[in-house]
Amino acid sequence: MTDVLRDGETVARNVTIVTFFLAVAKLVVALVTNSVAILADAFHSFSDLIPIGAAWLGLKIAQRPKSEEFPYGYYKAENLAALFASLFIFLLGFEILRESVSRLFVLETVRNDAVGIAMIITAFLVSFGLYKYQFVAAKRTNSQALMANALETRMDLLSTTLVLFGFLFAIFKIPYAEGIVGIILSIFVFYAGYESAKDSILALMDAGVPKDDLDEMRKAVLNIPRVKSIRSLYARRSGPFIVVEVTITVPAGLDVSQAHEVADKVEEVLVGMNKVDHAVVHIEPEKGEKLVARPVNEDGSVAKVFGSAPYFEVYRVSGKTRKLVEKVKNPGHKLSKKRGVKAALFLIEKGIDEVEVSNIGDDSREVLESAGVKVKSL
Ligand SMILES: [Zn+2]
Repeated sequence: MTDVLRDGETVARNVTIVTFFLAVAKLVVALVTNSVAILADAFHSFSDLIPIGAAWLGLKIAQRPKSEEFPYGYYKAENLAALFASLFIFLLGFEILRESVSRLFVLETVRNDAVGIAMIITAFLVSFGLYKYQFVAAKRTNSQALMANALETRMDLLSTTLVLFGFLFAIFKIPYAEGIVGIILSIFVFYAGYESAKDSILALMDAGVPKDDLDEMRKAVLNIPRVKSIRSLYARRSGPFIVVEVTITVPAGLDVSQAHEVADKVEEVLVGMNKVDHAVVHIEPEKGEKLVARPVNEDGSVAKVFGSAPYFEVYRVSGKTRKLVEKVKNPGHKLSKKRGVKAALFLIEKGIDEVEVSNIGDDSREVLESAGVKVKSL
């Protein structure tokens, strides 16, 4: 798990370094061209150092091992860093809005036009590269902090475009246009800030695991032999990871160590899934309803011997009611030996609670009973 965090940390560090040099370059060009727009953009880049620096720190702290004081680990430092970065997107929105409104009324005088335009285009390309780099890394590491910064950097593309307009309008002395473009851009920026802040707040409030992920977990758990149903399944995000709490029901006849085996299997399956850091499994007995299997012949009459029966009929039994659910082929039927064991394992996989037989081999009976399946004589 810490590999993912270390990967993210390296990306955040690289972006911090590139952003710093970009800010310095913008500052120098702003002085050379006398452009207020480029100067504002330079300050913007310096302020960008704060959220990406926070992401760097957040990803670093998140790697600290669990401790007595933080038994769940430090993963949420990452979500906090993301929230921090989101606030900076809002700030950026205000900055662009304020700047744009003031541009409605002022025309600046610039010099060294070519240097200015070259700088703005370079800044645009660098920001685009940083955006792609962070976006891909955010997907790879599932880091919200990097994703928030990637979105912020994408907004930088808009603000840099605005700077280019401003610079060109200043060269050609066209009033109003820059301000109007800027006001529209600020709306996009506010929206990005809102989306990003919402995401990190949801994670901090233990919400926001996508429904698809939850459905995928439910399906995987229900596929585990002897899991009868899921009473509840909760998941929450912690940094780039997910923590799951699940309550399942198992056949009431299982003893403690058999039930524990099922719980272990559920835990193993969940933790094997993408992003899941750990899972807590609670077990309850499945009451009131059970699945009963009986060996039958081709014509539906009860088969004399368990292992060599061609089919099994599976019933859902609840109180006095008994309903035929399905008739399944016995996979052990055609084997030359160990037919009963094969059949027993098959029924265990299907989650059968009880088998009704007239004749069953000792080893088949043992396999069934050790898995918590009752064997009843007909
Ligand atoms: Zn920015």
